Formats: sequence, C-alpha cells, structure tokens
Amino acid sequence: HARAGGAPGGEAQEVLHRVFGYDAFRGSQQEIVEHVIGGGDAVVLMPTGGGKSLCYQIPSLVRPGTGVVVSPLIALMQDQVDALRAVGVRAGFLNSTQDLEERRLVEAEFLAGELDLLYLAPERLRVEQTLGLLDRGKISLFAIDEAHCVAQWGHDFRPDYLALSMLHERWPEVPRIALTATATEATHTEITSRLRMEQARHFVASFDRPNIQYRIAAKSEPKKQLLELLRTEHAGDAGIVYCLSRASVEKTAQFLVQNGIDAVPYHAGLDAQVRARHQSRFLREDGLVVVATIAFGMGIDKPDVRFVAHLDLPKSVEGYYQETGRAGRDGLPSTAWLAYGLQDVVQQRKMIDGSEGDEAHRRRLAAHLDAMLALCETVECRRVRLLAYFGQESTPCGNCDTCLAPPQSWDGTVPAQKLLSTVVRLQRERGQKFGTGQIVDILMGRKTAKVIQFDHDALSVFGIGADLREADWRGVVRQLLAQRLLAVEGDYGTLVLTEASGEVLRGGRQVLMRREPEKPARAARAKAA
Ligand code: ADP
Ligand code: ZN
Repeated sequence: HARAGGAPGGEAQEVLHRVFGYDAFRGSQQEIVEHVIGGGDAVVLMPTGGGKSLCYQIPSLVRPGTGVVVSPLIALMQDQVDALRAVGVRAGFLNSTQDLEERRLVEAEFLAGELDLLYLAPERLRVEQTLGLLDRGKISLFAIDEAHCVAQWGHDFRPDYLALSMLHERWPEVPRIALTATATEATHTEITSRLRMEQARHFVASFDRPNIQYRIAAKSEPKKQLLELLRTEHAGDAGIVYCLSRASVEKTAQFLVQNGIDAVPYHAGLDAQVRARHQSRFLREDGLVVVATIAFGMGIDKPDVRFVAHLDLPKSVEGYYQETGRAGRDGLPSTAWLAYGLQDVVQQRKMIDGSEGDEAHRRRLAAHLDAMLALCETVECRRVRLLAYFGQESTPCGNCDTCLAPPQSWDGTVPAQKLLSTVVRLQRERGQKFGTGQIVDILMGRKTAKVIQFDHDALSVFGIGADLREADWRGVVRQLLAQRLLAVEGDYGTLVLTEASGEVLRGGRQVLMRREPEKPARAARAKAA
C-alpha cells in the first residue's frame, strides 16, 4: 500500500484522484482535509450530501496509523466498509452485530497496522477493553460522525456520545474531526463544548439546498394528495414518504401499491431481513418509493431520490431538514413536500405532554415543535425561514411554495376572539370543555345532535361564526394552537385557553393568519427529457 510523497495538499489530491476517482474537491473539503492532515482539530457543519466522508477518509489515508471513526449508524457500517474495500481502502468495523471471531480478526488487523479506517459504535468506547486496544495500536485521527448526537438540546441525543470527550484526555496528540449535518447555533455550541473542541477550527458550509423545492400543503386527504403529487410530478421516480406510526406506514404503502405505485414499507416492526431487502431494493432500483418511519434514511447515500414527502409533521426543524435533505443529492430538481393539518398539532402537543423525562425535556420538545409550526405557518419564503433557523441569511428563493404562489396573511383577530370566547363561555357558564368539532359546530350555528343534546344552540355565541367555512375555522384553530393562543388537553383533544389568550380576548393583540392560496404551488419546471 504505497503512499505518495510531497506536500500534504498534493498528497490529498493524489488520494482523491487515485483512490476515490474524483477530479476535484468540493466546497471546503480541501481546506478541511489539509487542516486535519496537519494535525488540527476540526468541527465541520455541512449539509447532507455535502461530502463529509472524504473529510476524514482522506486524512486517514494520508496520516500514518488508523483513522478511528465513531458512528452511531451500526446498520450501515458493513456497507460503508464494503464500499471502501472495493476501492482498495483497508477498512474494518467493530460493533455489536459481530461475533467474537470477526471481532478478533479486525482487532488483529488494527494492531498490525493493516487498517486505514476503523469504524466504531460509540458504546464500544465505554468498554475499557476497546480503549486498551486503541492504546496498543496507532491512531491517525478520531472522526466523530453525526456529532450532533452529543447535544442534549438536539433532536437526536445519544448518551454514549457524552463520553467522547475522553478521547482528547486519553489521546491528546491525536487530531479530532467532528462532523454533522445539523447546524443550529445551539447544537454547534454544544458540540464544541461537550467534545472539548474549543481549540478546533470550524468549517460551516452553506445549508442551502437550492435544487430542493420546499412545499408545505394543508392536509385534507393526505394519501390522495400524495398520490396526486406522485402521479403528476413524480411518476416513476424514487422517493421516500415519511409517516409517524408503523400503522400509517403500512396503510400508506398498501394504498400506493393498490394505485399502481411501486412502494414498500420500512419500519422497526418489520423483520430485519425484510427491512434489509427493502433498503437494498431502494438503493439498487430506479423508481421505488419507500414509505417509512424516520428510522429510514440515516446515512443512506442514494443520489437520485427525487422527492421526500411527509404525511405527518416532523417533530423539529432539524429533523425536517435532515429528512428532506435526503432528496436530490445529485443536485437535480427535487421536491420536499409536507402535508400538515390541525390534527398534527393536537397529536404532537399531546405526545409532548405525555412524554417521559423532566420538565426541561418537555420544554425542549415544545420549543422544537414551535419552530416547526412557525415554518409551516409562515407567509415568508420557506427557504429563508429554514436557513434563518440555522443562523444563515438569504433572500427569497423563487423555488418554494410561498415564493411560487404567495399566500396572503389576513387579520384573524375577530375570528380568534369569537373562537376563544366560545371556549370561555363553555367553560365559565357550563363548566364544559369540548374539542374542535363541537366548537366549530357551535360557531357555525349547526344544530347537530350533539349540539342539541348539550343545549349549545342556546349559547349567545351560537352561530356567530357563520361567515367562515368549516375549513377556515379549522385553520383558525390550527393557527391559534401554533401560536400558543390556544391549547389542547386530555385524550379527547379538548380546547383550553392559554395565558396569552386573554390578551386576544381583551383586544390587546392582533392575530395574523396565513390564508392558503387558491391554487397551491406546483413544480414550475419541466421534467428532464
Ligand atoms: P455527507 O456525508 O455529507 O452526506 P457524503 O460524504 O456521503 O456526504 O457524500 C455525498 C456524495 O457526494 C457521495 O456520493 C460522495 O461520493 C460524493 N462526493 C463527495 N465528495 C465529492 C467530490 N469531491 N467530488 C465528487 N463527488 C463527491
Ligand atoms: Zn422561497
């Protein structure tokens, strides 16, 4: 295994050509690679598909010793290692899926200096035996992949990552490179402090993915809306559809198949073999649609995913960005489509209220959800909002739904007051709490059986909202929930006031709302011939 001589820059270039077959570095890859080859620490924030792997793979090949890569993606290690071995890189991994014999073999290779790269699951590093092993070999660098997993503030926290600060204490002379596709200020700061990387150089790439068209639609009949999208814009394309529950994954996949779309389900409840088969079909075939829970896609490198659709609201902007980022890695036009409705807000708030963990944890979850809701309800360019969330400034993009079909904002103060006062009346005068359906029926003056049963047509607010349609009222409820001017509680999703509701009722606060455009945005582009 010959190594080229010369300047570090030249050597890195040489490895890029000879081993990986690429002509040139992308973005700041070269700077990063040279910095790490020179022994410096680096924190790399780069979007999915940006080319993070080469940033540690090339220095591992150039520097003497083995590059130790910490990654939580155990399921992908075999594939990663196979791909590296296929181009002649001496790579191996150690994780819980191996038997003793396999592990011994990799350990022996490492100790003999026969590995360029060694992938490790983070939990391995909590075992003294592994640390002892590393002591006896030669390490060229530590790469900490998916470094945002160290951030408790983040959406993907893994306790095993907290222990990684000891890498620096135990091997102070070994350079470290931490990489992530999550770029929020909070996560960045946490990575730096928890991994003790105050001395590192920081490389922050632009998080814009200009070829991805962001669209967030009002959810009415999600499966049908999805089918329409696939038929009109993505016939025969590969894509990922995300649902929150296993049951809806199954139902949606079935629905697509019944409607002539080549689709398969993917979730943790499926047999490991079935999952592996579906994943490899997705990677190898041209136009397969995978309907999945969020577990699917982490680290999957398929360049021509043409769309990512969400049938349920993601729990955070980071999650949304990561999941949609799996589309269009090849730089060609792709769609990120999300269907979002009232029920999403109700359901997620309920999940947060019922979640385990302390109050601080629930507050974090709630803050993540609020940011996601703000993105859904914005009348501004989606991309501007998305990038602003990651601390990056930009101008309206012309390639998102709000740019293509600008929604209007309207003054929803009066409807908000009507709705909130209905909730107040019910509670004060009757001691009752009801869900959205009943409240809307009262506002619209509908004499349903349930309205009559509870004598709600005698309320003074009965029928005061007949000027709006049912869909408008549901939009009002959704947006009040999103703005925390209204809350839901209990198993039946009953509506209750929040501390901020009073201000609206007293006329001290204007409520701006988003009005969906008559014709939602369509892809304003021709499909490549
Ligand atoms: P990330 O880990 O940031 O999501 P990857 O390292 O998986 O990104 O790279 C994404 C894709 O881009 C891969 O297919 C990779 O081979 C390719 N790639 C990375 N760097 C280059 C480069 N300099 N030239 C051409 N292709 C590259
Ligand atoms: Zn835009």
